[in-house]
Amino acid sequence: MTVAYGLRDVYCGEINDGHVGAVVSVCGWVARIRDHGEHLVFVDLRDHTGQVQCVVEKDLNIRPEFVLKMTGTVSNRPNENFNEKLATGRLELKDCKIEVLNSSEPLPFPLNSKVGVDESLRLKYRFLDIRSDRMQKNLRLRHKIVQTIRNSMSSLDFLEVDTPLLWMPTPEGAREFLVPSRLQKGHFYSLPQSPQIAKQLLMVAGIDRYFQIAKCLRDEDLRADRQFEFTQLDLEASFVTQNEIIQIVTSVIRELFMNIFGHEPEPIETITWEEAMSLYGTDKPDLRVPLRIRDLTQYFKDTKVNALKGVSVQALLLKKAASISRAKLDEFVAIAKRNGGKGLLWIRVTEDQNGLNLDSPISKFLEDSDKSALINSLNPEVGDLILIVSDEKLLSCQILHAVKSFAISQALVDILVPEDQYRFIWVTDFPMFESVDEQGNAVAAHHPFTMPNEEDLDLLLSEPLKVRSSAYDLVLNGWELGSGSVRIHQRDIQERVFTALGMSLDEAYDRFGFMLNAFRFGAPPHAGFGLGLDRLVAIFANEPSIREVIAFPKSQSGIDLMTSSPTAVDKKILKELGIISGEKAGGGTKVKDGETLKSEVSN
Ligand code: ASP
Repeated sequence: MTVAYGLRDVYCGEINDGHVGAVVSVCGWVARIRDHGEHLVFVDLRDHTGQVQCVVEKDLNIRPEFVLKMTGTVSNRPNENFNEKLATGRLELKDCKIEVLNSSEPLPFPLNSKVGVDESLRLKYRFLDIRSDRMQKNLRLRHKIVQTIRNSMSSLDFLEVDTPLLWMPTPEGAREFLVPSRLQKGHFYSLPQSPQIAKQLLMVAGIDRYFQIAKCLRDEDLRADRQFEFTQLDLEASFVTQNEIIQIVTSVIRELFMNIFGHEPEPIETITWEEAMSLYGTDKPDLRVPLRIRDLTQYFKDTKVNALKGVSVQALLLKKAASISRAKLDEFVAIAKRNGGKGLLWIRVTEDQNGLNLDSPISKFLEDSDKSALINSLNPEVGDLILIVSDEKLLSCQILHAVKSFAISQALVDILVPEDQYRFIWVTDFPMFESVDEQGNAVAAHHPFTMPNEEDLDLLLSEPLKVRSSAYDLVLNGWELGSGSVRIHQRDIQERVFTALGMSLDEAYDRFGFMLNAFRFGAPPHAGFGLGLDRLVAIFANEPSIREVIAFPKSQSGIDLMTSSPTAVDKKILKELGIISGEKAGGGTKVKDGETLKSEVSN
């Protein structure tokens, strides 16, 4: 394939020994100018592939970030001028003729500075920030990941189909963005939280296997792993089981891994939600952390110690952590209470002349049977710390997870979480509902189109919290990378789920009638998945936030600092859209004409 180089013959970073002696043109930005005092000046010219040193006559009126075309002879540098850090570091372009294609004002921040630049400044000048090595690398990695996914999906017979952005509410648990309709005044489109409903309808439509690199929009509080708009690999297939979807996604991940890292990922284990909660206290376990919760309930059935009595007794053994200060241990207890528990018991494992000694606020109440139960079940060594929570099982495990995360984040434990390790895990059999609200209505854990486990169907209305679902998550290094489920494809089951969620049938048909009606016409069994692309790229790029792998992200307070959006809108437009009728804004917040959210920009 011929590369269209445009104004240049070769990219800056691609100049190599094969070019020596040739006269070539390169184009790019001035990265650095070094004046060696003689007649010559050294200009490092940069494009997205790297840099090359160009030697030019002195007294040029150029500055960093000027856009130049340099034409010169590729030559070997004298040995003493080698720069082994650069791919082109043994070569240079000599006797260069310069063409200034554009000038540049001094940049508001240095592009590749080792000391961090304030993120809001980077976001305000994102078009400059993206020139940096870091952002170039991240966006190119993103491209490679997307391309690999597209190829994998295509080779698995998935068809890429676009679905609308102007859509209707898709119940996925977040607030939605609304777009007013000019033609249907007083009515709004919703921006889709995901293409969930559309892809299910594509299955009814006989598409068989669909995928899309889809924009999803959710009006949620922003965090390191959340943006209003994010991108998903969204997929759905007909006549498949949960295991087949898991296999399909696993094979995409495998191919991605081979392409990006050149080797296979570690085999991906599958555990149920219940196992995940029992072993890790979270449904997003980070397998790089070698800590498992231990269930000690059976050992303390007859104990007289209140702190060890309870419906369940869960423990965590922290190796070499006995020296954690009393103040920090008190913080552990506070975390337990903040999370709704009664407290937390800590026991330092020390040594005296009789052997192991258990040092704790309840030491004097511990009987020999309690001590041997602790020692035999956990096998602690001198210098270890035991943490015990005896509340209801799920709560106890969640508390231990919270304390463990705190201890790791504060470097209180001797655990180094390797940054270059990628540990995936599938979590299956999620509960169908996560809670029951004050009105007695169940709250969906995934989304309401998830198929309940067949054996639990009868419990839907009577004991919703006992209903398990055919939902599964893919977790990577403690981040939820994606989730999916087998879907309901029978109208009666879908109606029952809506009822469990407290929706009357009238309301259900009002909101989702088109979908329930579609199920009348031979909807095939189907299942699917949505994989968070931004998170995947961020983890593969070793970045702490998805903002680093998105070209134009919003700030933490939801503002595009570059364009200062969202912006206020002229009253005339609001009237035209039917949002206000007279002089005053109709409901909601009043906006002043032409005012941008300048005060928030500085946040
Ligand atoms: N729509 C779901 C989500 O965005 C993914 C799925 O169930 O396919 O989380």
